Amino acid sequence: PVRTRFAPSPTGYLHLGGARTALYSWAYARHFGGTFVLRIEDTDLERSTPEAVQAIIEGMEWLGLSHDEGPFYQMQRMDRYREVVAQMLEAGTAYHCYSSQEEVEAMRERMREAGEKPRYDGTWRPEPGKTLPAIPADRKPVVRFKNPLDGEVSWDDFVKGTITIGNKELDDLVIARPDGTPTYNFCVAVDDWDMEISHVLRGDDHVNNTPRQINILRAIGAPLPLYGHLPMILGADGQKMSKRKDAVNVMDYPAQGYLPEAILNYLARLGWSHGDEEVFSMEQVCGWFDGTHLSNSAAQFNIEKLNWLNNHYIKQADNERLAALAQPRMLAAGAVFDGAPALPAVLALMKERVNTVNELADAAMLFYRAPQPDAALMTQHLTDAVKPALTQFAERCATVEWTKEALAAMIKEVLAANTLKMPQMAMPLRLIVTGQLQTPAIDAVLQIFGRETIVARLAKFL
Ligand code: GLU
Repeated sequence: PVRTRFAPSPTGYLHLGGARTALYSWAYARHFGGTFVLRIEDTDLERSTPEAVQAIIEGMEWLGLSHDEGPFYQMQRMDRYREVVAQMLEAGTAYHCYSSQEEVEAMRERMREAGEKPRYDGTWRPEPGKTLPAIPADRKPVVRFKNPLDGEVSWDDFVKGTITIGNKELDDLVIARPDGTPTYNFCVAVDDWDMEISHVLRGDDHVNNTPRQINILRAIGAPLPLYGHLPMILGADGQKMSKRKDAVNVMDYPAQGYLPEAILNYLARLGWSHGDEEVFSMEQVCGWFDGTHLSNSAAQFNIEKLNWLNNHYIKQADNERLAALAQPRMLAAGAVFDGAPALPAVLALMKERVNTVNELADAAMLFYRAPQPDAALMTQHLTDAVKPALTQFAERCATVEWTKEALAAMIKEVLAANTLKMPQMAMPLRLIVTGQLQTPAIDAVLQIFGRETIVARLAKFL
């Protein structure tokens, strides 16, 4: 059975790269009817925080990337790691090493000077017929993994193709520190084994860890998962993404008015493709995501593309949902909803051209605050030539059928009767009704405001 996992280290928020890894692991599991596991890699006590765990879980929930098992916390699995360390010591696949920190440093320095790759020299590594040094008094040992000396580690990475590393390149890794706490690669290997992970999808910053984890998995008799290492996401400038220049925190996106389906669609396409398709639902992604068509080159973040997708999903979105998202921002900006047009109808009218829900909320404000037309603009547009026409218009507003069509027809008649062109009447009308010159189509604006408001606002100027 397919079992994938997302294994974040809770040292900050959920960033875009992590979210994409999670999405691919999730989609892969969904595609094969498998299981998606969430594992929190919180053994770095100095950098891990409960707030970060919360932030990651919140980010996954916002995206709708639900896990089937977990969250498992590595800190709650310490007994299990110690147990495996003991078993490995017993089996001879790991050994106690009493070399001090200084000694290890010194041997590395010697190797560096000799032009070799610095590694542990194997002083305490037991071999048949070898006599080990006398155990120094009062020194707590580390436990080292007995890495194979010869041969190579090779795997068919389903993003990068076959990767092969000689065992000579690999060190006898410390798997437990002097106080008995296990180290990173060891924990990951034990977890992937215990959680029966079949496919590991992760960032390619972990490529160097993979041969180490594979050797440990082999030594403990665990089956090997398949690995896929995803290239990183670069910022718009082609450089590594950074907090300073890029919005890397997934939860910054809802704050800016992005919909989760836009972020998911964007991330799905960033490093994976399905023919020429650019717009797809998560059902489609799960239907198609079989581990092929993953790109092996770094993807570059492109805000225009994300904006285009967000606009697409805003246009598709239910207007009640958009209203619920827009309302808090509008209230904060002083919107008065009492006696004003219903927000969903207003958003329906305005959502065609916006990139974000925030832009939509800001645009919709024109229906929810008292118009304060600029006096100079008013003088410019409300000329003596136009006033009689607007007065007629105001009078006919009392009785006209209050539909867009009837209003449009009535405006045409008034224009013809006064030999005016559309903008000559529409501009002052916009100013009077909304306080601004740019609005959606005037007939739609009038219709949504309602007869009472329009008549009252016109009366103030005529
Ligand atoms: N905890 C690692 C990280 O956040 C991921 C480890 C893995 O996927 O194997 O980068």
